[in-house]
Amino acid sequence: MGRERPEILFVEDEPGIVEFLVPGLGYAGFATRVAGDGPTALRMAEDREPDLVVLDLMLPGMDGFAVCRSLRERSDVPVIMLTARDQVGDRVRGLEMGADDYVTKPFHFRELTARIRAVLRRHGQSGEMRAPGPLQLGDITLEPELRLARRGDRDIELTRREFELLDLLMRNPDRVMSRAVILDRVWGADFMGDDNIIEVYVRYLRSKLGEPNPITTVRGAGYVMRRPQA
Ligand code: CA
Repeated sequence: MGRERPEILFVEDEPGIVEFLVPGLGYAGFATRVAGDGPTALRMAEDREPDLVVLDLMLPGMDGFAVCRSLRERSDVPVIMLTARDQVGDRVRGLEMGADDYVTKPFHFRELTARIRAVLRRHGQSGEMRAPGPLQLGDITLEPELRLARRGDRDIELTRREFELLDLLMRNPDRVMSRAVILDRVWGADFMGDDNIIEVYVRYLRSKLGEPNPITTVRGAGYVMRRPQA
């Protein structure tokens, strides 16, 4: 487990974005420190390693690529880069510099928090280590790298949410996942919408995975995928 509240170092020079995001991140359960430029960010990261860095690409002086490269020289702290819309080259370059993920501006707040949670989870900072490689439960295989499920010989393409939901259920076989846990892990605790969304996504998954239905509804409790009986 990491700290009680994962600590995010947010590197951004635009006050409007900082003022908007920092309270939201606090509300979503993160402690946040802010750096307005690259050298400050590197100094702060050295003082105390954050759990994750949200790094804007457009910074005065030293840009986000250079900051990411410097961070990577001495740390494998997860980095999410904020890039401009449709700058595919920037995203590729960011990933090459060692960023773990990116979010394109403008973004919805809950998209950012969902990415933060996903990256922290992959780095084992939220108490649940993600082993690399495929997951297997009965005749269903999940390929995290490809965002693909397979049932028997059949490949099943999943959207990001469907993948996150199936991943959560398959990593917790025989454990009933409550709606609150599912919302938190798959959509982010800041999700304000209708929580019927879970039922909708379970329905999508069931329809894609086919018969026999691998996801059991536990009335009033949540959803579970069972290990096959030996
Ligand atoms: Ca900026």
